[in-house]
Amino acid sequence: MAEPASDPADSARDGDPEVPDIDLPSDAFDAVLDALAGRDPGEPLRFEGFSVGRDDAGEDSDDGDAAGEYRLDPADGDRRTGLSERDLHEALDDRAPTVTDWYAFERVVGEFGPRRAFLRWLEDADGATVATRYAALAEGIERAWGELRITATITDRGERRYDVRHADDAGVPVDDLDAYDDPLDARELVKLDEKGRYRPLKTAPSLAGGWVFPDLGARDAYELVETIYPATVANWHREREGELDVTHWRETMERQSGIYGVVKTWDRGEGHEHVNWVAEACCDDSQCLKRREWQYDDETDLDVDGGDGVFPCREPCSVVVSAARKWTRLESEQPRTYEFDLTPSEKEQVEAIIDAVADGQIDEIREADTKEGANRYRTRFLRAKLFDEDGNLGGVPTESDEEDEE
Ligand code: SF4
Repeated sequence: MAEPASDPADSARDGDPEVPDIDLPSDAFDAVLDALAGRDPGEPLRFEGFSVGRDDAGEDSDDGDAAGEYRLDPADGDRRTGLSERDLHEALDDRAPTVTDWYAFERVVGEFGPRRAFLRWLEDADGATVATRYAALAEGIERAWGELRITATITDRGERRYDVRHADDAGVPVDDLDAYDDPLDARELVKLDEKGRYRPLKTAPSLAGGWVFPDLGARDAYELVETIYPATVANWHREREGELDVTHWRETMERQSGIYGVVKTWDRGEGHEHVNWVAEACCDDSQCLKRREWQYDDETDLDVDGGDGVFPCREPCSVVVSAARKWTRLESEQPRTYEFDLTPSEKEQVEAIIDAVADGQIDEIREADTKEGANRYRTRFLRAKLFDEDGNLGGVPTESDEEDEE
């Protein structure tokens, strides 16, 4: 929760924390006047540490001039009444950080919902005081969202600006990256990974870097994040509000018709182990940045961990459903017993190759490192030794002679 409110004008004067100099822009002041115009005197506009309101008619101003129509109530000071518009402007100018903060969220960002919650979360607006945040924004507040690094800063008019880039490019000068300003340009950036391969899952940790959106406003920053990681903010927000509607595996599969229906066969008496394997294969943090919240069904949790992602996954995605469909066919085959002769090292090498492929580590294994099981030369050696001319491991055909004759 926020610290007890104190008047930021005092904080600024005390110099601790160091709040940057902020000029009150006329549009922020006009917005305050607009907000007050529709209010009764008994309904002040509340800011952190003070409120302003319409004054009861007939009170003289503090300096003896004709009565103004506004009043100022500092939380820890004396009420000032009968303020003219100019008086009010001066008073708010002294409190420009707080007023511009109000303006940024109430008018620029606007309505309550995921966008507002996300932009406030970026700078901890529901936890830290204006003074603390403005001092931090002056330095730049960094947040991670998936593979993104978002840096929020502030102008001398209290406007938020955002630099969004791949986390791997943190600290790289903007001139060394491809700079963009239209959030929709990100649609191209998310299509391919660094090796130019199509990314079917937008939340896979395979976002390519080398680009930056160095100077976005609040709404564009939000749109960019939604373009790169669709629906992640909305689901994160639902979860924070206690409204995340999770659709579990079983329910998702029951909705599938036609060919997808074959996946349902996994439900039969298997102890849901297939579903565990799918989740372990696809939803692990190494494969997807979402935190899996779906389970087998309402009453049956899966055995594998859902991950640590900031944003939740509320139902099996199409990539998982599609993979499960293919694997269902493979899993419908009956196991057989094959006999191969392997040395202990060869058995371990086969295991190392499976691990390296599953963990995407093939590229990290150097050609010269022939001790590694998944080293290319060592694997070619194994193939040369164990495969016959038809590519059969150990010379053992996949189908037996009798089955070939059937
Ligand atoms: S189902 Fe798994 S892989 Fe798909 S988005 Fe959710 S967590 Fe990621």
